[in-house]
Amino acid sequence: MKTNIIGYPRIGEKRELKKLIENYFKNDISKEILLEESKSLRIAHWNSQKENGIDYISSNDFSFYDTFLDTAILFGAYSKEYKELELDLLDTYFALAKGFQSNEKSIKALPMKKWFNTNYHYLVPEINEETIFELNLDKITSEFIEAKNIGIITKPVIIGPLTFLKLSNIKGDYKDYLKKLLPLYEELLTKLKDIGVEFVQIDEPILVTDLKEEDVRTFKNIYSKLLGTNIKLILQTYFGHIEDAYNEVLSLDFYGLGLDLVEGVKNIEFVEKYGWNDNTIFFAGVISGKNIWKSNYAEVLGKLNRVKKIISEDKIVLGTSCSLLHVPYSLENEIKLEEKFKEQLAFAKEKLIELKELKEILEVNNVQSSSLYVKNIGVIRKKIEIEDFYFKDINDKISKLKEEDFERKESFKERIKIQNEKFNLPILPTTTIGSFPQTNEIRRIRSQYKKGIISETEYESFIKKKMEEVIQLQENIGLDVLVHGEFERNDMVEYFGEHLKGFLFTENGWVQSYGHRCVKPPIIFGDVKRESSITVKWSTFANSKTKKYMKGMLTGPITIQNWSFVREDISLKEIAYQIALAIAEEVEELERNNIEIIQIDEAALREKIPLRVSERKDYLDWAVKAFRLTNSKVKASTQIHTHMCYSEFKDIIESIKELDADVITIESAKSDLEMLDVLKCSCYDKEVGPGIYDIHSHRVPSVEEFKNNILSIINKLPDNNIWINPDCGLKTRGEYETILSLKNMVTATKEIREKFIKA
Ligand code: GLN
Ligand code: ZN
Repeated sequence: MKTNIIGYPRIGEKRELKKLIENYFKNDISKEILLEESKSLRIAHWNSQKENGIDYISSNDFSFYDTFLDTAILFGAYSKEYKELELDLLDTYFALAKGFQSNEKSIKALPMKKWFNTNYHYLVPEINEETIFELNLDKITSEFIEAKNIGIITKPVIIGPLTFLKLSNIKGDYKDYLKKLLPLYEELLTKLKDIGVEFVQIDEPILVTDLKEEDVRTFKNIYSKLLGTNIKLILQTYFGHIEDAYNEVLSLDFYGLGLDLVEGVKNIEFVEKYGWNDNTIFFAGVISGKNIWKSNYAEVLGKLNRVKKIISEDKIVLGTSCSLLHVPYSLENEIKLEEKFKEQLAFAKEKLIELKELKEILEVNNVQSSSLYVKNIGVIRKKIEIEDFYFKDINDKISKLKEEDFERKESFKERIKIQNEKFNLPILPTTTIGSFPQTNEIRRIRSQYKKGIISETEYESFIKKKMEEVIQLQENIGLDVLVHGEFERNDMVEYFGEHLKGFLFTENGWVQSYGHRCVKPPIIFGDVKRESSITVKWSTFANSKTKKYMKGMLTGPITIQNWSFVREDISLKEIAYQIALAIAEEVEELERNNIEIIQIDEAALREKIPLRVSERKDYLDWAVKAFRLTNSKVKASTQIHTHMCYSEFKDIIESIKELDADVITIESAKSDLEMLDVLKCSCYDKEVGPGIYDIHSHRVPSVEEFKNNILSIINKLPDNNIWINPDCGLKTRGEYETILSLKNMVTATKEIREKFIKA
């Protein structure tokens, strides 16, 4: 059986590409060096696939920033104002990604959106009647030739027209642009054929989302045309199953069809139910491209056996479920991780080895007798035996949960009355989301502490000094509800993971989040359990330094789960409940220590929402319940806040209500009115702090601007429910701009309050 890789991580095993791009942005290296070094990276990545005998290796999966943006450049799908900059193509590309600033001109960067249900973000092209599509073949052809020069015949990868148009920001109907775009796709395929390309992988992940009938019809029209170019097209899908389009896809004579058999297990059912097209090769996505566990060969072979009943073996190619972009590069760089953990994991490079091994196993007549197979079964079995990672008491607790464990005793109406009497805050209370600027000094001291250069006592007294300063600052500015600043944490998920049982951390497990930004998600390896307090020490210290109310600051279960690699041997719901029980213990201990306002951030509640609408209810049900589990036991007088990082929640507003948090702060500065309308129309009746300024920008809004924003909010929503706050944590901002902005925010609030009192 042959093997296939949909795409390989491009950032490099030591994040070389990130460093190159950042150095190029800083003018520390020339364009020549950037091009030269990135070529070496590509070659290294191709070679490691070749060494593992991969038969179908991709090219054009490399990107300096994002492959969706590459597609926009490939077809000239970007606006005139960038073209008029008259930069060369690479700098135009970076301008689209980062924005452009000169003395005369300032152009905004393209917006970014999450790529399906991953933590990767793509740049959203803007397409309108003025867009002049044109082919820029340089990148795709030169990468093919580069690989050919080292003896590797690759399949170039492109994003298909349906996905490209449906995910772009389109003025009008996307179908109207096909007339111009399709001939360019045809020309591209023909030109690729001319330079010796045999196969092209054309990605249409949009097929795993709910499509309208007319979309499916459009799909058919598109591919009837493109297949006419006579190049071998591999239609690739990932992140789910393609139900709506399955029969249409089969009726077209694709050279290959790639289906995800990990997230899209239902795909096998479709194969079984509707059969297969004998002319088409099945690219079976059996190795997870999204998670980091060693594959269970017995499971993989089980799936293949089902498929083999319908499709003959010579028509099956083994591969990954999606691009390996979403997993770290290699375990080889994990020096500190013990062998017993490492052997349970597989990053991108190890997944190549898995494919090689599976190929070998399948060549043996009696698979079960293959030593590689036997070894795999043995290793997989060992996971559950690792000590201190599995806790029966936690799972017993979960199985005994009752409805009342998810409910606060008193209704919001009763609670808020008690809370208002107790806290006696002014109308339009002011607060912040939690973190204050993390300066270089703080990062330096933290890293010295982690390396053992300074002692724990020294580190703690430094953090305490910072907390006292930030408390003094907030009092001087006149904020009503204070925070401790989050100086003790590097990251809102990692910090909690480090203080809970069940988590593993890597040294180099970096995954691209967008452009040159990477994240290093923790691994939820076993049962999550809290054995000692996490934030209580810091929150009580901060509380003792002020007479004002100090918010306790926690990360919620869904955010911790969504920003980690998760187990696959128990359900997501069970993982979420385990984390929720741990956070609940922290909430209760904070309460016992007189922290009367507790914020539980669910920054990422929406991130892993299922792509198919029919699967969403189930996810939202347990996600909401997990949140409620964290605070169901607190007194009516304890005020629970939550914070969310996105404003796109029109479709999940009912679930947001169900969270039953007393106060919610939301990121809304970019799309304020729309979000307010959603709250208004849904009769959102709890307290809400629609972020009043965009913390992603350096800009300091004036008092006047703040006043206008506050007025537009109280025009829409009942003023006694409103909180005034920035739209997210201030961690990434400079100190100076933060102080000015908060001062203006508080001044504006006070002036508006005055008017109320007069009125
Ligand atoms: N409390 C966190 C902070 O202020 C929330 C961050 C977030 O929403 N991403 O940094
Ligand atoms: Zn946020």
